[in-house]
Amino acid sequence: MTDGGLNTAALRGSCTVVVGCQWGDEGKGKVVDVLAGGAHVIARYQGGANAGHTVLLGDRQFILHQVPSGILHPGKRCLLGNGVVVDLVQFFGEIDRLAERGVDPRGRVGLSTRAHVVFPYHMALDHAAEEAARRKIGTTGRGIGPAYEAKTGRRGVRVADLLDRRRGAERIARGIEWARRRLRDLGADEARAGTVEEAMAVAGRVPEVATDVGREIARALAAGKRVLLEGAQGTALDVDHGTYPYVTSSNTTAGAAAVGAGIGPTAIDSVVGVVKAYTTRVGNGPLPTAFDEAMDERVRELGGEFGATTGRPRRCGWFDAAVGAYAARVNGLTGIAVTKLDVLDTLPEIRIATGYRLRGEADIPFPATAWELDAVEPVYETLPGWQAPTTEARRLSDLPRNARAYLHRIEELVGTPIAMVSVGARRSQVITEP
Ligand code: GDP
Repeated sequence: MTDGGLNTAALRGSCTVVVGCQWGDEGKGKVVDVLAGGAHVIARYQGGANAGHTVLLGDRQFILHQVPSGILHPGKRCLLGNGVVVDLVQFFGEIDRLAERGVDPRGRVGLSTRAHVVFPYHMALDHAAEEAARRKIGTTGRGIGPAYEAKTGRRGVRVADLLDRRRGAERIARGIEWARRRLRDLGADEARAGTVEEAMAVAGRVPEVATDVGREIARALAAGKRVLLEGAQGTALDVDHGTYPYVTSSNTTAGAAAVGAGIGPTAIDSVVGVVKAYTTRVGNGPLPTAFDEAMDERVRELGGEFGATTGRPRRCGWFDAAVGAYAARVNGLTGIAVTKLDVLDTLPEIRIATGYRLRGEADIPFPATAWELDAVEPVYETLPGWQAPTTEARRLSDLPRNARAYLHRIEELVGTPIAMVSVGARRSQVITEP
């Protein structure tokens, strides 16, 4: 947006990563949906059914947890990479529901043979651990954490294992045994781990979708096709770079896109960071720019800030440029997409946190610990609101002057050019022109 225009170079190149730059729910689904029009292959690289992307197509709303949102564009190949953990029951359920609603996913969805599978016993462990925990993480209870733990503990079951029913059943039986012991330790009923038969319920459908995702992507790029790598959750929830321990169990940041899709980092041309025009957080953990109660309720209603997976109300706050600048650095952003600008249309004044102060010290780097982040004082700057609708704007120049000034300030503070602005949930409500 520098020099009064949008810098859309970040949206070009053969291989683009779209990554969330706050605590998730930034509107990545919408941004991926817009960019998917120009891509041939869309792949997810981490996370599981805890991510919920909401995409509006005409008047129809689709909530996708596992299948990449690119599926709503006819003819696109949609892949789940090795870095993803997949709940097969939900995955095939989503495919079947899409088919029922007239979106034909057959032959268009591929699942990495190296991806790990989430079974009912992982969900039982997730619930039991959260029930027993003194300090709750606020997980979505989908078994994602225990499935990633099994992966790094070398106890996991991969998609490829299920292609051989006997071997698959053996590995699942060992997983269930382990889960029963752990449930016992947590004081929970070990029968909640379920049976091998239950865990194998949809294993017979795996050959429909199993593929070598890294190989497919490499071939697509070699053939000059465009590939979009779609992240789930956000930078501040990354297991290494987020507000540990209130984080998700995978690396959400752009570096993980290469690992989780099965390609080398040099294959990636651009990284688009998605930021909401304000901040939200679902689940527990610090949120330095949290609104006061009245404002929290107002913006939650205006922005419809309720979790797509759990329906939980999201906590809301002012735009936090300290998080934005940190995300720009750890993701190597080449451009940002600002979403939900329209939600701020009625506010008389808008604040931006330009940085943090901690124990009297200014300009501290983004803290490594949740307790420090809890203790920081945001340093605010107040900008005048625009108090006019932005939902019909299709060019940057259509936006009120104060809205452009707000975007410009975000861009300056994050240190990355704006490539796209979203002004409504619909596919058409997007600005990619100066
Ligand atoms: P994601 O997981 O990052 O894709 O985010 P979610 O899907 O959980 O949340 C984004 C929500 O905001 C969805 O309900 C979208 O339809 C909606 N949304 C996306 N972009 C915009 C926008 O620019 N304005 C408004 N009002 N809603 C938007």
